[in-house]
Amino acid sequence: MKIGIYPGSFDPVTYGHLDIIERSSKIVDHLIVGVLINKAKTSLFSMEERVKMIQDLTKDYGNVEVRAFDGLTVNLARECGANVIVRGLRAVTDFEYELQLAQTNKVIAPDIDTIFLTTNLKYSYLSSSMVKEIASYGGDIHSFVPDEVEVKTKQKYKVEHQK
Ligand code: ADP
Repeated sequence: MKIGIYPGSFDPVTYGHLDIIERSSKIVDHLIVGVLINKAKTSLFSMEERVKMIQDLTKDYGNVEVRAFDGLTVNLARECGANVIVRGLRAVTDFEYELQLAQTNKVIAPDIDTIFLTTNLKYSYLSSSMVKEIASYGGDIHSFVPDEVEVKTKQKYKVEHQK
């Protein structure tokens, strides 16, 4: 059985991430979306909120599970018995970092391979940070994230503005 891990911050999840989830869920038998608890980065959404949003949006897939994790992706992969790490590649700018990460992971966990899915052209420009920046200025983010994510993101900034 092929078990894959798709790790990321997903702060918040975008159509670009959801496209990678949908496509990779057809490649592996079971996909675990790993939501990173990054202590070094302050996130807009809590880990629970990020997990819940992805769970709600992927509930119709029979083989997708969402879990929070901290530490190394390869440790999560080992814990879950996963043999594949899935990453998305948007542009050349992603490539250098992703290659370095994949090669490092291969040294520390030779039994686990990283596979890259190239972005859907429709979403090649899309990132969570851009979504947050636009939302923070009251801009329209409905082309980038599903409705429920849009509502929650807007609420965050409304709350921030009222402070
Ligand atoms: P990280 O903080 O690890 O970069 P992200 O949540 O930003 O986490 O992204 C997780 C993964 O999803 C990464 O492999 C990233 O390249 C990929 N990704 C992000 N946005 C897109 C997109 N628009 N299209 C395809 N892949 C994407």
